[in-house]
Amino acid sequence: MMAIFMPKRKRYQKKRFYSSKRKGKKRKKRHARVWQNLLEKNKSLSFQCRCLFALSPTASPRQSALSSVLPFCAAEKDALSSTPAQDDRFGVLNRGFVRLVDSMGSDAAIVQAARVSYGKGTKKTREDRALIRYLMRHRHSSPFEMCELKLHVKLPLFVARQWVRHRTASLNEYSARYSEMHEEFYVPNEPHTEKPLFAEARLGKQSEHNRQGRSEDATLAKKDRRSSLTARLEERARKAFAFYRDLLEKGVSRELARITLPLSTYTEFYWKANLHNLFHFLELRLDGHAQEEIRLYAETIFEKIVRPLFPQASEAFVDYRLESLNLSRDEVVLLRGLLQGQKVLRPPGAFSQREWQDFLTRFSLEAKDEG
Ligand SMILES: Cc1cc2nc3c(=O)[nH]c(=O)nc-3n(C[C@H](O)[C@H](O)[C@H](O)COP(=O)(O)OP(=O)(O)OC[C@H]3O[C@@H](n4cnc5c(N)ncnc54)[C@H](O)[C@@H]3O)c2cc1C
Repeated sequence: MMAIFMPKRKRYQKKRFYSSKRKGKKRKKRHARVWQNLLEKNKSLSFQCRCLFALSPTASPRQSALSSVLPFCAAEKDALSSTPAQDDRFGVLNRGFVRLVDSMGSDAAIVQAARVSYGKGTKKTREDRALIRYLMRHRHSSPFEMCELKLHVKLPLFVARQWVRHRTASLNEYSARYSEMHEEFYVPNEPHTEKPLFAEARLGKQSEHNRQGRSEDATLAKKDRRSSLTARLEERARKAFAFYRDLLEKGVSRELARITLPLSTYTEFYWKANLHNLFHFLELRLDGHAQEEIRLYAETIFEKIVRPLFPQASEAFVDYRLESLNLSRDEVVLLRGLLQGQKVLRPPGAFSQREWQDFLTRFSLEAKDEG
């Protein structure tokens, strides 16, 4: 407003004054510092500013330079682009993936938290490892809670249903009320996939021993039979999607039209858990009793994301949780006897038939007849 009342000459001088200043290196540096401070203090502001810089066709060289100095975090990149970068995804099943969005902490953070309770102690890596193993062995879990992981997961609805039973994580899912579902569904061992790039599950026959699982039965593993079954599964899903689109075209609301979609339809969510709860999830879902599909997700999360980020904690998790065994009182008594040279005899009334079989299998033992 002031400029309106200035004489022409003064206005010209003022313009020259500022343009010469703008060219000055000192001013550029100061500007960058101010922005950097602002952006550090306020993340959403940083996001908005950087979006503005990155997206604006009229962004000055200084703005572009500044936006390149301040890198986007993965989530921000996603928000900018409707098709997020592919390289950070770990493929699971035919269309699913797991991707690390954000993480907090490391093995060192676990040790640091533990030392608050145990005092300074030692600082050598070897001793850090020993401390982490001690914590895991004694179920001193709170130091592991200092670390967090936020994942982006794409998975079939039936896997998501099992996943959401884990209540100690935070979750935000794609809304099929708000948006249309994409025609993407899971088919085990897709017939057209010659060399799958993803962790895949197989179409198996119902297990005779495990009511909740599938067997390795060869009759279903024959190529032609499997292909015909997977082709039929695919056809059914496509028909369901055709009906879904038909309902939408006729004006049926998205929240109702979706009820025709199969459980194999893919959904997506962001899922955040601390390392303690994530290990609990992994322990349950890496187990042979868990469904093969969710097991593949758990394996991918553990091997591709958790292990590289927390190598020592992961090693301790495998040793003291994943590959350790829980023993009942009766099993402990029996094992003590075995170590002292006693025969493998089923103690009267101590084990159910199933428990006894499990015990023998777990320790690769053969029962001896009493006589
Ligand atoms: C192989 C397998 C088969 C399964 N089969 C079935 C099935 O047939 N039917 C079925 O319904 N479910 C089934 N489940 C789901 C299972 O019963 C659990 O709900 C699921 O594994 C989540 O375990 P969680 O409660 O320990 O985990 P989280 O919900 O992550 O909880 C972690 C821990 O926090 C504590 N916790 C959390 N919330 C509470 C609470 N409200 N009250 C008390 N303690 C709490 C508990 O100690 C719990 O172990 C199955 C799971 C597996 C792994």
